[in-house]
Amino acid sequence: MNNQAEYESLIAGLKFAKGLGARRLDVYSDSKLMVNQLTGSYQTKDEVLKRYFQLAKTLLQHFAQTSLFHIPREMNSLADELAKEENDNALDILFLAFEDPQIFDIDSNPGSWMDDIRHYLLTGELPNDRNKARRLRVKAARYIISQGQLFRRCYSLPLAKCIRKENSKIVLEQIHSGDCGTHAVGRNLSLQVLRQGYYWLNLQKDAKEFSQKCPQCQFYSSILKQLAAQLHPITSSWPFSMWGLNFLRPFSKSRKNLRHVLLATDYFSKWVEAKPMAQPTGTSVRNFIWTQLVCRFGVPLSLICDNGTAFTS
Ligand SMILES: [Zn+2]
Repeated sequence: MNNQAEYESLIAGLKFAKGLGARRLDVYSDSKLMVNQLTGSYQTKDEVLKRYFQLAKTLLQHFAQTSLFHIPREMNSLADELAKEENDNALDILFLAFEDPQIFDIDSNPGSWMDDIRHYLLTGELPNDRNKARRLRVKAARYIISQGQLFRRCYSLPLAKCIRKENSKIVLEQIHSGDCGTHAVGRNLSLQVLRQGYYWLNLQKDAKEFSQKCPQCQFYSSILKQLAAQLHPITSSWPFSMWGLNFLRPFSKSRKNLRHVLLATDYFSKWVEAKPMAQPTGTSVRNFIWTQLVCRFGVPLSLICDNGTAFTS
């Protein structure tokens, strides 16, 4: 019974991988019997298992290259947890997505933008009009048919699955405002769609129009991110006249309990003066300014700080 369950899970996985269009497959299972039967090391005598074996063999032939590995049970804990689930909703949903081609079916319902290209790629027939024929030939060069589905070649991107115009709204909705949607707009949105591997005619135009109609984008996109006041550039005309002072974050304790570093940077030359200290206090800052700055570089014109308590006290 247990071996049947192992075979069933393998067959489910193979169907899933086939639906995804996988070409090369590595199968890991903790069932030594099943792996050895499929690799030919063991014979299959049980009548029921024979039927499973045949089905699994047939499915494995759909892939260009397959490898089966036996792994110890403790290394297969993730798969075990999935198998122990009382209801297998997750798998059901996955299979439904493939068995019910509600969104992604591009098979030739009449009146789709892909029909001409598909027809030409499948049969090589061109329209009688010379100009139309030339245009179609040029256009069709950007498309290929793989496993009965039309894909568009993209520059530096994977092949994009061509979908019907009426299904494009679902894709846009999911990518713009779905669970992982970032409310990307315009050209950004169309590029995200391409990166996710979908294409249809007038993708850019549709993406732009869609993002213009999103209610959340209407509410929040007009919030100004500009500062309330103008920015003022800080310039220094000669060396050591203007210093920027700041404490670096507390570091791990050194031998003399010195954790903080006071840093002074000259705005003109970017010269740096630094001193480690135990506590960021007003006294230590005053001593630093006197010994490290005034006594060595002269009285500065201005000191710039972040108004921390050590600087203001
Ligand atoms: Zn939006």
